[in-house]
Amino acid sequence: MPETSTARLLEVSDLAVHLPTRDGVVKAVDGISYTLNAGETLGIVGESGSGKSVSCLTVLGLINRDSAQISGRVIYDGSDLLEATESELRMVRGNEISMIFQDPFAGLHPLFSVGDQLVEAIRAHEDVKKRVARERVVELLHEVGIPQAAERFSSYPHEYSGGMQQRAMIAMALINNPRILIADEPTTALDVTVQAQILELIEKIKEELSIGVILVTHDLGVVRDVTQNVLVMYAGRIVEHGSTAAVFAEPKHPYTWGLMESIPLLEVETRDLRAIDGAPPSLIHLPTGCAFHPRCTQAFEGCDKARPELDQTEHHQAACHLARTDRDRIWQERRRRPADASR
Ligand code: SF4
Repeated sequence: MPETSTARLLEVSDLAVHLPTRDGVVKAVDGISYTLNAGETLGIVGESGSGKSVSCLTVLGLINRDSAQISGRVIYDGSDLLEATESELRMVRGNEISMIFQDPFAGLHPLFSVGDQLVEAIRAHEDVKKRVARERVVELLHEVGIPQAAERFSSYPHEYSGGMQQRAMIAMALINNPRILIADEPTTALDVTVQAQILELIEKIKEELSIGVILVTHDLGVVRDVTQNVLVMYAGRIVEHGSTAAVFAEPKHPYTWGLMESIPLLEVETRDLRAIDGAPPSLIHLPTGCAFHPRCTQAFEGCDKARPELDQTEHHQAACHLARTDRDRIWQERRRRPADASR
């Protein structure tokens, strides 16, 4: 497992989330384990439908337990959140673990000023006078980088830019001093310059408050820039897990290789960036054996039969039947060749 040095905040063990539908059971998350420490940003990366968002929503108790089959353990503060009552989960969501989403506008009520919404969020959890809450909100808006925070207090969400809306949602998430912030594609809807500013803000908050951050993204560039550890997910399972430095230096899984070759990364000498061929599989009818085998350029006999489990390499884990020496050799060859020649 990745090395950690500070207090453990969250321990997820063998988490599975299966969603029965008329067409069959969707195995959205299928046995994932990870930990999160204070002061750590953990990236969860993968294509749409890989299970990264569903796994986070489950941690927060936001997947309907009546319709989903959920198993495993999510240990927070000594208790299993999967066993918590709805009111206990509400307390955790309000005070301990916060989440921000891709579309900040959807999280704000269009008919109330941003400041009033933040005041109400404070007063929903604390018995404080409106004036005191208002002062705190102005301070918070200032802290998350809203210019002229006092004047902006009374502005409506549509009067904020996309970046400012996301800053307001981050302020909302921080209101009760959470210990964990889950950010689900927080910059995907923003332009590139604003993306960098929001990621910097999340990083600054993490450092100042010593909280743990889970950053869900499809963008490996974001993972490289702001995370310490990373999970690569494919078809509901973790296929690679390790320190970000180790995964970027020596990725061990063909899916991670494909992701790295499909984005501009200085370390990868790809002259012709290409997406991974094929599409993610149906989560109802998963391929046999390794779920990635229909798309894998390295697949060999047996990959379609036995499912590979995460192994323990020197720095991190990967789930692949290739021998470790072969993985190292193939990656070194791929990184030296143009993308077309490596496929
Ligand atoms: Fe590819 Fe086989 Fe490894 Fe799966 S187990 S990633 S198909 S080489």
